[in-house]
Amino acid sequence: MARTPFVAGNWKMNTNKASAIELAKGVAKGAPAGVQVGVATPFVYLDAVGQALAGSKVQLGAQDVYFEKSGAFTGEISVEMLKDLGVAFCLAGHSERRHVLGESSELVGQKARAIVAGGLTLIHCVGEKLEQRDAGHTLNVVQSQLEELRGSVEDPNSLVIAYEPVWAIGTGRNATDQQAQEVHAYIREAMGRMWNPDFANRVRIQYGGSMKPDNAAGLMAQRDVDGGLIGGASLKPDSFLAIVNAAK
Ligand code: PEP
Repeated sequence: MARTPFVAGNWKMNTNKASAIELAKGVAKGAPAGVQVGVATPFVYLDAVGQALAGSKVQLGAQDVYFEKSGAFTGEISVEMLKDLGVAFCLAGHSERRHVLGESSELVGQKARAIVAGGLTLIHCVGEKLEQRDAGHTLNVVQSQLEELRGSVEDPNSLVIAYEPVWAIGTGRNATDQQAQEVHAYIREAMGRMWNPDFANRVRIQYGGSMKPDNAAGLMAQRDVDGGLIGGASLKPDSFLAIVNAAK
């Protein structure tokens, strides 16, 4: 089954208002046909970046959200608020939220459920730490992170999985093509068991972790790699678009 590749930038806590707008315009100008392209910006620049992307094919994304609809949750942002600004997709379970900000598996699952229920595309991030890989636990870790989605997703188009080995994020040490394919194939098999094989064949699985213009083509040529979630290399239009073009 031909899956349209999806390459998304995760700007994390970077840019300022002017540079965010400039970056968005640069990406919008060069985004090619044949690849779904998105940028997950800091909350405070979503509105400005959304306006900069208007009329382009590049989708606006958020890096996080809270699962409640509204109310006394100081500092939090709801799915409805994101939709109000034209957000199309939202991450859940990014390793920095799990391991730096201390989000539990339960909270990640609640966020994932709210994102899908609200009608946004969910990019659900999974991946093992180095000590878990070294101990041979990679597939178990990924399986348990997929379990966070049980009962929450029915439409395969509303779900994207990002396989992001924690040891590869921001380190310059990407997974090899074979390491990525092995885990992606396992994720698809596991989704086939949790949902059904047709559902699993339709879900895009992105690779994330030090993907750069010089390693993107090899990673994305793998059978079960359907694009990328890009951190550092998404902060410049040239490097991000080189990766997007490698996905065609
Ligand atoms: C990420 O944060 O999702 C990521 C993949 O970062 P980097 O590309 O910088 O490793």
